[in-house]
Parts: sequence; structure tokens; C-alpha cells
Amino acid sequence: MITTKDALTGLCNRQDFLALLHEQVQQANESQTQLALAIIDINRFAQINATNSYAAGDAVLHHLAAKLRTVCRQRDYVARIGDNRFALLLPGILNRGHAELALQKLNRRLDEPFHSGDSRIDIRITAGVALCPEHATHAEYLLRKAEIALAQARDDGTSERFASDVSQGLELSDSWELEMQIDGAIQRGELQMHYQPQLRTSDLRVVGAEALMRWDRGDLGIVAPDVFIPVAERHGQIKQITIWALNTVLRQASEWSSDGHPFSVSVNLPGELASHRDLPELVENALRLWGQPHIQLVLEITERSLMDRHSSFSILQQVRALGVEISIDDFGTGYSCLAYFRNIPADELKIDKSFVTGLPADSGSADITQLIIDLAHRFGLRVVAEGVESAPALHLLKTRGCEIAQGFLLGRPMPPEAFRNWLDKYFASRPPKAEIATSI
Ligand code: C2E
Ligand code: CA
Repeated sequence: MITTKDALTGLCNRQDFLALLHEQVQQANESQTQLALAIIDINRFAQINATNSYAAGDAVLHHLAAKLRTVCRQRDYVARIGDNRFALLLPGILNRGHAELALQKLNRRLDEPFHSGDSRIDIRITAGVALCPEHATHAEYLLRKAEIALAQARDDGTSERFASDVSQGLELSDSWELEMQIDGAIQRGELQMHYQPQLRTSDLRVVGAEALMRWDRGDLGIVAPDVFIPVAERHGQIKQITIWALNTVLRQASEWSSDGHPFSVSVNLPGELASHRDLPELVENALRLWGQPHIQLVLEITERSLMDRHSSFSILQQVRALGVEISIDDFGTGYSCLAYFRNIPADELKIDKSFVTGLPADSGSADITQLIIDLAHRFGLRVVAEGVESAPALHLLKTRGCEIAQGFLLGRPMPPEAFRNWLDKYFASRPPKAEIATSI
């Protein structure tokens, strides 16, 4: 049943592994046999990448995959289920000692020296193990119990840990079902980009749009990005989804009329991808295919993920060198360190909507908004306010120097066709500047 392989290691990928796990747990339940699931992380993997090279990181992943294969019996399965995360599935075991033995064997194999180029790399791993039926008799529970055991082993600084028998309040969640179905959502045409207009506060000219993703599951309804993006991130689909988004957005934007004026389109970039060395190439490819001279691509990255990943600064600089702008999203919630702010590779800052929706009545929010606007201008960034829901809020933002506004007051996110019609109507009926400025 395994069809998709992880390109680097040749192992089964996360999506196929989930389906396999489901199947194997079911079989273990039916045949009343035991099964062990070990989730394995490489210790200090980010450091290995940083102090050696990405090529060394890849070589380590490859090496671990090979060693994992050597501890497998014919009926066992091994998969790469995350960047730096592997799974070992051992069906038909007699007791937990069997899983312990497999991990001991793996550790012994990893004791053998490993060289990448001239440097010797010490590969250590941490594992969390859960047994079926002892710890769980459902695939989702089993996976989560093994992941919790792994997190506990990390906290304790031990190399492995078995799941505890306590239920820890785990509940079967919808996210498992989403996780099982997100693969193929692109191919099935279930993902869509919606567009929300952005207007210049000085004259209410539409200057751009933010692209917001939707997952349409047909009869099961629309899933919000807040729900499925984290699932896609967890399960290694986010890169593929972002490539799809970049290409779709640039293709659709190339069909917009913009009255001859430059027009921007903003795509949300998941934090994980901002430090991905492939990012500049992915963006360049999409621009080469669909880029238009009058369409300015903007990538939005949250303040929080930028602060967590200073390694992304140089990658974002490379992206900017392609003529793409960077916007710091949800600003005000991420506790930016001002020392870093000086070097931040950005062009725009978006005030988080939690400060904007309460304007102008909430004086605390008004103060913070003013501070953010001043800070941004001090560093030469333009400011966008999201979540503008009322005319008084818009007025306040304009008088405080915020250049661009986005929110339900000005336009909701719309499917591509509706947004195109909205733009056509906007440009066809756009009254003179002064008239619009007083009409809201
Ligand atoms: P975000 O980037 O902060 O996007 C703004 C959210 O505020 C959107 O929610 C938008 O529909 C909503 N919004 C817009 N105007 C108003 C307003 O006046 N009032 C209020 N209360 N809300 C407003 P949405 O579309 O549900 O997106 C939620 C989050 O999901 C986004 O937050 C973003 O973090 C993420 N997201 C959306 N599309 C993508 C995508 O293509 N890729 C990635 N990685 N993340 C995405
Ligand atoms: Ca955004």
C-alpha cells in the first residue's frame, strides 16, 4: 500500500505512515497481538545543520534512515514523519523488551563513527515508545502517546521513555481525520485562495490584497486556516501547500485589472518555511512562471516566528533581492527584541487585529497602535492595520499615520471570481478622491 517515499531517505512519508499505522493497529486488535510504535528524534539536529552544513544535516538523516533499516525485521516499518523525526513500527512483538532491544541495537549502530566531509558527527537520538494494546488501541492515541513519551524523555534528558498508562486527558480529535485527508486536498481541488482588499488610508485607493487560504471539504464544510494550517505543518505538508499558494496567487493576480497602478498581493508564509534554504528558489520559480511587472508579491511572516528564527534573516534577504517584499504579520504579539529589529529584513509591518478591533474606544490599544506606527516609521517600514471594522477606527488609524487598512469595513475575504468582480466594479465606479474619503 505504500506509494509515496520521502525523497531524501527513500522511507515511507508521514501521510502513508499514518494510513499504515491505522491499518496495523486494526490488525493487532483483530489478531490480539502486540505492536510497538517508537517515535525517534535526532538530538541537536538544528545545531548539526548550523555548525556543519545543510548537506551534513541531510547526510545525517540519510545515515539514520539506513541504520533504522538495519534494525528492522521483515514485517517492521520505518518512516520519516517530520523534518527530523522518524517512526519505527514493530508489529507482532511478544513484550516491551522487544522494542527496548530494537532501540538498543539502533544506538549501538549509531555509536559507530559517522563522517560527513572532514568532520566527525556524533549522532544521538531520543525515543518515545507506546504499545498497543497496553497504552492505546487506536492509532491516533498510540501516536500521541508515543509523542508525549518522546517529549517527556526530552524533558528528563533520557534517551528513551515508554508511554505512561495514565490517559493524560487525551481525546480523539478531528485533527486526525483532517490529517488523514489533507494529503491530496490540492489534487482534489479542495484548497482555494480568497482575497481581502487593502486600501490606502489617505484616499481609500485599493492598493493590494491579502490571500487567505480555505479548505473546502464539500459536504463537510469549509475548514478555517487556523485549524488546518497547523495540521499541515505537523504533518509535513506545509511546503507543498505554500508552493501551491504562491503559484495560485500569482496566477490569479495576473488576471486582475489594477487601473494601470502597481498592486500588491500578500501571501502568508509559515514560520517553518522562512528559514528553509529552498525558499528563494521556490519564490523565484513561481515568479518566473506567473510574475507580472505591475504585481508586487509580499510575503507575510509572523513576528513570533521571525523572533524564534534569526537564521531566517539571511534567507529573507535573498527573497527580497528577488524584488519580493516582506511584511511582519500579527505585530505586537511576538515580543520583538528591539536589538534585532534594527536588522530585520522587512518592508512592512502589520498591526495585529487584537489592537485594531477595539479602536478608538480602547485607549490602551490606541496607545500601542501609535507606538507601533512610530516604531515602524523609525525603521522605514510602512504600516498596515488589519481587522478594521469601523469608520472611527479607520479615521483614527489615518490620523495616526497608518498607511494601509484591511478589514471587514472595507471588504471581506472573497473567492477569486468575486474579488475580480469587486475590483472591476471598484475601478469602474471609483468616484473622485475627495468624495470617497468622506463617504466612510
Ligand atoms: P492572519 O494572517 O492574521 O489573517 C487575518 C485574519 O483576520 C483572516 O482570518 C481574516 O479573514 C481575518 N479578518 C480580516 N478582517 C477582519 C476584521 O475586520 N475583523 C476580524 N475579526 N477578522 C478579520 P482567516 O482567513 O481565518 O485566517 C486566519 C489565519 O490563518 C491567518 O491569520 C493566517 O495566519 C493563517 N492563514 C491564512 N491563509 C494562510 C495561508 O495561505 N498560508 C498560511 N501559512 N497561513 C494562512
Ligand atoms: Ca496575514
